[in-house]
Amino acid sequence: MATKKKAAKPVVRKAAAPKKSQDIELDDDVGLERERPDVPPPLEHLIEPVRTLLKGVGEDPRREGLAKTPERFVRAMDFLTSGYRKDPRQILEKALFHESYDDMVVVKDIEIYSLCEHHLLPFFGRIHIGYIPNGKIVGLSKLARLADVFARRLQVQERLTEEVAATLNEVLQPRGVAVVVEAKHLCMVMRGVEKQNSWMVTSSMLGEFRENEATRKEFLTLVSPGRARS
Ligand SMILES: [Zn+2]
Repeated sequence: MATKKKAAKPVVRKAAAPKKSQDIELDDDVGLERERPDVPPPLEHLIEPVRTLLKGVGEDPRREGLAKTPERFVRAMDFLTSGYRKDPRQILEKALFHESYDDMVVVKDIEIYSLCEHHLLPFFGRIHIGYIPNGKIVGLSKLARLADVFARRLQVQERLTEEVAATLNEVLQPRGVAVVVEAKHLCMVMRGVEKQNSWMVTSSMLGEFRENEATRKEFLTLVSPGRARS
């Protein structure tokens, strides 16, 4: 099934260092840095519950440092869950090209930041994405955007990994897709549940990456998961 025609070198890209805003081509997102005291009407009703939460932990929500915290928190949550309002398929479909290139394409070390759905605390790390085209390729920056759309939702790392792989598989219909996510979960490290340096690694292998051990190994060697992270 998986016959490798030639031993051409696979394309491996390291994800570009993120810009200061953390955003790659995100035009319509509200950046966290931009601080506006007013909150859009659909979010207004969330402010009072956050004040209640502050009181609940023993704070005085009226003191200077906390007065605007509910608004800031609501805006931050709005941004961190903005992936619900984006269509991941559309992002890929807008940048599809017909191309006969048929060796492995790998983009590694894409930074991701997400929120665990069990504790609403961040988990963050890197995602490595590979695929073997079958007549269609996609703009490389779109892979990072695809990862962001799923990361900016309430997540578990396993599902995030699978959703990225499945969407790529569905839209590109490639010969195979491989996704590896390495992340650190603040709900584990901050609460002392796990050793401070534990990374969780998840992977999703489809098509030739699942069927062909050599192909899978080639991908894993290229992204070398498990290496020491700084
Ligand atoms: Zn958690």
